[in-house]
Amino acid sequence: MVTVRFAPSPTGYLHIGGLRTALYNYLFARHNKGKFLLRIEDTDRTRYVEGAIEKLIEVLKWCNLEYDNIPIIQSQRLDIYKKYVDELLQKDFAYRCFCTSERLEEMRKNQIAKKQPPKYDRCCKDITKEESEKMAKEKTFTVRMKMPSEEIIFNDVIRGDVKFHGSLIDDQIILKTDGYPTYHLANVVDDHLMDVTHVIRGEEWLSSTPKHIILYKYFGWTPPVFAHLPLLLNSDKSKLSKRQGDVAVEDYRDKGYLQEALLNYIALLGWSTEDSQQIFTKENLIEKFSLERCGKSGAIFDIQKLIWMNGEYIRKLSIDELTNRAIPFIQKAGFDTSNFDFLKKCILLEQDKIKVLSDVPHLIDFFLKDDIIYDEKAMQKVIKKEGTSTTLSTSIADILKDIINVYSQIQNFSAQEIESETRKYTESKSLKTSQIFHPVRVAVSGRTEGPSLFHMLELLGKEKVLLRITKIIDTL
Ligand code: GLU
Repeated sequence: MVTVRFAPSPTGYLHIGGLRTALYNYLFARHNKGKFLLRIEDTDRTRYVEGAIEKLIEVLKWCNLEYDNIPIIQSQRLDIYKKYVDELLQKDFAYRCFCTSERLEEMRKNQIAKKQPPKYDRCCKDITKEESEKMAKEKTFTVRMKMPSEEIIFNDVIRGDVKFHGSLIDDQIILKTDGYPTYHLANVVDDHLMDVTHVIRGEEWLSSTPKHIILYKYFGWTPPVFAHLPLLLNSDKSKLSKRQGDVAVEDYRDKGYLQEALLNYIALLGWSTEDSQQIFTKENLIEKFSLERCGKSGAIFDIQKLIWMNGEYIRKLSIDELTNRAIPFIQKAGFDTSNFDFLKKCILLEQDKIKVLSDVPHLIDFFLKDDIIYDEKAMQKVIKKEGTSTTLSTSIADILKDIINVYSQIQNFSAQEIESETRKYTESKSLKTSQIFHPVRVAVSGRTEGPSLFHMLELLGKEKVLLRITKIIDTL
């Protein structure tokens, strides 16, 4: 059975690249009716972040990437790793290293000064077993695996045959002085114990793979199939970094990207179908995903495309669903959300314009509060504009006063009625519609842009509309 895993190190947030890795593993597992497992690689205690595991699990949940196990947490499995380290020591595939950090640092400096690649000089490699056992009782030590001086070739589904030479690779530390294993050892042991058949991970791990291949060989285990996904890049082709925009999935969630849209977009960062399909349901992705169609060249993270895609998804949501999803954002902006039907009507008028859910509070706030903010530019341009008298036969104030009269007489304050009465008035005064529509819009909403004017007026209701127009006249 196909078994894959997502093996993040909890750093405090889930990187977009991590989400892509998780997603590809998930899609591959579901496509092959296999298992998708979660393993938390937290053996680097210097990078421990409080609450990071919980956060990671929460984000995966938000993404709907359900895993099929109780997550394995490496820091709880030290005994297991220790056993395998002992096995390697026993078989002479590893040795204890008693070098102090000062010595190692000194050595590194000298090598750099001599323009040599920094590498452990294997000073402790030939300490006899007996001596090493004895020293282990008195001194702190690490355990290093012996890298053989041989060519290491492995096949990568995405890259074909990949070659490294063992002589160029350091004798990796597999057990640290604090008793925790390093990534390499824990990763290989767990992939084996979890029956992982395919390792799908980012390109940055490609250079670790020869070390893993050797560990598999030392343990006598069959390595899994490897697939290293292309790097994610900024638009200038540098490695995707915080400096050029958000990289944490949480940030996208908090800005109001829909998880379906984010996943759809991320799916295309390194994978495509022959016909370059862009919009996929999750089921679609599961059906079509294959490692063979993953590319090896870096994939550019294009925020504009993500924004576009998010808008597409927002427009496809039912209004109930969209309202439900927007509510946390509206609440966060400080508005009361108890009147679901009213919110729904407000949002419906703006559905076309919403790019991310965090746009919603601003787009509808003039429906929700009484003290609306008048955009100064809009006021200058539309209400208080200079030269009004030369372009209009009557002043804006007079027009708005007339509008109050007209609207007061409308019994059924519906968009249709309001529109027909407004147009009638416009014609009677031989004005252009824009000469009426714009001032009315600014008077009731404070801005020049917004939803369809008459629907907006209907939803605000006669009372508020009259009140707001009166207020504006008072300022003129
Ligand atoms: N812990 C590694 C990471 O943070 C896992 C790499 C792998 O999948 O082997 O990405």
